[in-house]
Order: sequence, then C-alpha cells, then structure tokens
Amino acid sequence: MLNLVLFGPPGSGKGTQSAKLVEKYGLTHLSTGDIFRANIKGETDLGKLAKSYIDKGELVPDEVTINMLEAEVEKAGETKGFIFDGFPRTVPQAEALDKFLNGRNETISLMLELEVADDEVVKRLILRAKDSGRADDADESIIRNRLKVYHEQTAVAAQFYKESNKHRGVNGIGTIDEVFQRLWTEIDA
Ligand code: AMP
Repeated sequence: MLNLVLFGPPGSGKGTQSAKLVEKYGLTHLSTGDIFRANIKGETDLGKLAKSYIDKGELVPDEVTINMLEAEVEKAGETKGFIFDGFPRTVPQAEALDKFLNGRNETISLMLELEVADDEVVKRLILRAKDSGRADDADESIIRNRLKVYHEQTAVAAQFYKESNKHRGVNGIGTIDEVFQRLWTEIDA
C-alpha cells in the first residue's frame, strides 16, 4: 500500500493536491477537516463538539479525532492506500496513527509537507472564504489563530517522520500543476 500524509499549514493546497493524487494513484482520501464538516452539516454529536473548536481555530481533542480517523480507515475496506490530509496534526496523533497502522501490518510511506509562508496562506484563505463558505476562512483573527496552532502544536509532528527519513519538504508556491509535479516526483522517487 501507498500511505501518504499530506502536511502543511491551512491554505497550503492539501485538499487541491489530494484530489490530484487520488486520481493519479487511486488512493482513498481521508481529510479530518472534511469529515468534521460533514458531521457539522449532519448535526451529529461529533459535529456539535467539533464545531465548538473549529469556529475558534482550535484543534479538536486528540482522542475524538484519533477515534474518528481509525473508524474511517476501518470503513474504507479494500484500497491501494490512503492520503491522510490534515491528520496527524499533533505528536500524539502521529504516534497513534503509527501504532494503528502497525497493527494492520501497514506503515506511512511518506509525509509530504507543502511549504508556504504565513502571509501567502492568509491571502489564499481570505480569497478561498468567498467560495468555501467556511467561517474559519472568513475571519483573519481565526486564520491567524489556526496558523499559531499550526506552528505551536502541529509543525512538531513532522519531526516524527523526519526521524524515520519519511519526511519530504515540497515548495508549495507555483501553479497547481507545478506543485503536483513536485509531489509525484517525490513519490515516484
Ligand atoms: P482543515 O479542513 O484541515 O483546515 O481543518 C479544519 C479544522 O478542523 C481545523 O482548524 C481543526 O479545528 C479541525 N481539525 C481538522 N483536522 C484535525 C486534526 N487532525 N486534529 C484536530 N483538529 C482537526
């Protein structure tokens, strides 16, 4: 199986690039943000809980997020592999994913980190808010908080993959196709 973690700050292009990677490699896309938003829309208990964090630009607690992600992997059935988009976002999530995959005789093949500077990300998210309808994109103070959370809690999770030489940094600036080419070049190497 090819199991990829697509990593990077909010607005770095993870969702856009995931769609292209799914097409090229036939992988199952799991975006924890998308799953939370589907639960919010469906007004589930999980959605209500998640909304209280997402609206502030904070992370949903690890235990809830990890349980949800594992259930989604179980649900997926037969697949060539997964793209984990927006997960793991903390060190405990990275450790839990590692343990969970090991239990299935699987492992993460690569973590690809899209590198985009904060000011560029803020510009992109404010633009995206016009189409996404996402409240957490529409307010610059929430965007700034998401970035603060990214730098303080999420960026350290990359270390976990650096230690096992599975981390690759990819320049996230350029056209969608330019960035995509950089990603698949790393995967095919
Ligand atoms: P995203 O769509 O990846 O930008 O995620 C939107 C929001 O969902 C984040 O700002 C968090 O509040 C929440 N979220 C998504 N993935 C995770 C995760 N792995 N851990 C905790 N919270 C998450």
